[in-house]
Amino acid sequence: MPILEGSIGVEDLVLLEPLEEESLLKNLQLRYENKEIYVRSLWVPLAVGVLESSCIPIPYPPSSFPLLSSWFQTYIGNVVISVNPYQQLPIYGPEFIAKYQDYTFYELKPHIYALANVAYQSLRDRDRDQCILITGESGAGKTEASKLVMSYVAAVCGKGEQVNSVKEQLLQSNPVLEAFGNAKTIRNNNSSRFGKYMDIEFDFKGSPLGGVITNYLLEKSRVVKQLKGERNFHIFYQLLAGADEQLLKALKLKRDTSAYTYLNQEVSRVGGMNDASNFQDVQRAMIVIGFSEEEIRQVLEVTALVLKLGNVELTDEFQANGIPASGIRDGKGVQEIGEMVGLNSEEVERALCSRTVETGKEKVVTVLNVIQAQYARDALAKNIYSRLFNWIVNRINESIKVGTGEKKKVMGVLDIYGFEILEDNSFEQFVINYCNEKLQQVFIELTLKEEQEEYKREGIPWTKVDYFDNGIICNLIEHNQRGILAMLDEECLRPGVVSDSTFLAKLNQLFSNHSHYESKVTQNAQRLYDHSMGLSCFRICHYAGKVMYNVTSFIDKNNDLLFRDLSQAMWKAQHPLLRSLFPEGNPKQVSLKRPPTAGSQFKNSVAILMKNLYSKNPNYIRCIKPNEHQQQGQFSSELVAVQARYLGLLENVRVRRAGYAHRQGYKSFLERYRLLSRSTWPHWNGGDREGVEKLLGELSISSEELAFGKTKIFIRSPKTLFYLEEQRRLRI
Ligand code: ADP
Ligand code: MG
Repeated sequence: MPILEGSIGVEDLVLLEPLEEESLLKNLQLRYENKEIYVRSLWVPLAVGVLESSCIPIPYPPSSFPLLSSWFQTYIGNVVISVNPYQQLPIYGPEFIAKYQDYTFYELKPHIYALANVAYQSLRDRDRDQCILITGESGAGKTEASKLVMSYVAAVCGKGEQVNSVKEQLLQSNPVLEAFGNAKTIRNNNSSRFGKYMDIEFDFKGSPLGGVITNYLLEKSRVVKQLKGERNFHIFYQLLAGADEQLLKALKLKRDTSAYTYLNQEVSRVGGMNDASNFQDVQRAMIVIGFSEEEIRQVLEVTALVLKLGNVELTDEFQANGIPASGIRDGKGVQEIGEMVGLNSEEVERALCSRTVETGKEKVVTVLNVIQAQYARDALAKNIYSRLFNWIVNRINESIKVGTGEKKKVMGVLDIYGFEILEDNSFEQFVINYCNEKLQQVFIELTLKEEQEEYKREGIPWTKVDYFDNGIICNLIEHNQRGILAMLDEECLRPGVVSDSTFLAKLNQLFSNHSHYESKVTQNAQRLYDHSMGLSCFRICHYAGKVMYNVTSFIDKNNDLLFRDLSQAMWKAQHPLLRSLFPEGNPKQVSLKRPPTAGSQFKNSVAILMKNLYSKNPNYIRCIKPNEHQQQGQFSSELVAVQARYLGLLENVRVRRAGYAHRQGYKSFLERYRLLSRSTWPHWNGGDREGVEKLLGELSISSEELAFGKTKIFIRSPKTLFYLEEQRRLRI
């Protein structure tokens, strides 16, 4: 393994020898143990002596580097791999930002700053919209990486009072969204429970104008229930710990988390996290973004409402005719809710314990039994909270949005949940993994496929690098008529008795021969006896591994319906914010059209995201979790191997290594370098391609370094390009 001076292992995976999983893991481990958490995957100009095969002497660093920066930015798909250090390393902050700003992607150690710098400069100087795709498992460091990107860009772009205030708003959106959208999980103490895509918009000079945030699928089930060792969303604990006495009193809250059913099921504290001071930060951030005091108060009131709702205890009751019904144990809680948000408490009670069904012109009221009433209460709490979250995102967007008339340059940053294989996988994992399949497709299309297709188009001899094209899996899930999501929608809308098991039966029938679908039924048909396969489950062979999904509640979660009684009750609240969250509760606006299902909404937003990403130049941050214990210094090869496989690290390097670092149309290449040759300078009357051949022949550049395509010249290593640039610089 070549060792670079001053660096440990290889900084660029393209230099890895041999190019195998084992050496890849060893390299990551060696570097990780030496606190080198970043590696990139691209040809780099190396210190002399590493690429011995090349005979061109290369000054290092070439003095023409700054000039060159823009050349390499045309290259699609810069990749930085980041292994979570679980400790603060002294490699961030203004001093480092300044360093990375002055150099190119290749000159300094690999770093997220280097990637952010390439992306930003390319956007500013070459007018190419960029996106930065950050992927990895929960706890791998995605959100921290996205914040590093944002802080880097904020530090280097534009100056002035107006610009600074835009930057502040953009940066301060993080603590607010984290408070309402993050929670402690067993994998990550500050786990984002929603996906986020943020477009940062710049003017023609590269100064920030504002942005747009899109959020995906908040894990709202957490509001009412948490797994062992996990917490609810941070804001609840922050509010109770950080509110002063006056605010607490105004919201009629108790400081102790154990007083709230939604908070006392599991842990309430997170080591190293100060909920009280975070609450101050969140309030300050909201003010910076532009929330009015009144808005903040209303947001906190709705947050408190959710906690109080959780404490509404429902009891068994029986009607005179013996039919089970439900009631509210202690009217005080509901009354308090009613007072806080201006609701008639009887109405709330009625909405929780009964359901009105409209059949034609008639209204029939049925009572709910206690289980149904509890379900209704929890559904309401989840809905209030997730709608509040959406409202907050929209409110932030209102503050940071940019007028439509202006021409904008855009940098998108995607921080979205990675592939999930839990012990028990449900609808949420299903859509999250679907999203990851789509992102893998972007990666394949834009790096592996596009690169290889260019060689084919240009007629350059090329040994195909194999990779798995996951189109077949995407299709299995998203096909408009015959995909799993379409089947689920069909089942949700079908009249008659539908259930999770009728849905599963439908899948089994349709996909019995699909190579990426398995279930008990399909296995039995093939006489395969797999004891791990549950009866109510199906399994999908994802690109990243097999995942078994339990269909229980798929129908329910996809329907995502709130009883109309509840939305109508909420809409009647005097509380402006709460009321605005339930527009469908307005009896005048009763629409017979069913709201789109959760699955189809998600599919649509993923489609929009894909379109957005495809229109930009992609940059990748591949985050890796080194161990399951959030511990510094521990590196589990097995764990990393799985991630490396599904992040497609080796395939990416293989394509890179077999390929050419630079390509350029003959005409523009000749224009730039003709001054290096006697025969092409100052006049050349032949064709462009012949000119380039002549020029490179005169410069005695090894033929191994070059490939002549139909319209472009391809240069294998950047060293050659640096050499050309250096020579050019000496002539002019
Ligand atoms: P993800 O978003 O992928 O779930 P996070 O970005 O929230 O993961 O990272 C999880 C935790 O790991 C963070 O809270 C932090 O403690 C630690 N961490 C991640 N990246 C870094 C880093 N670059 N430096 C120090 N600690 C980090
Ligand atoms: Mg995160």
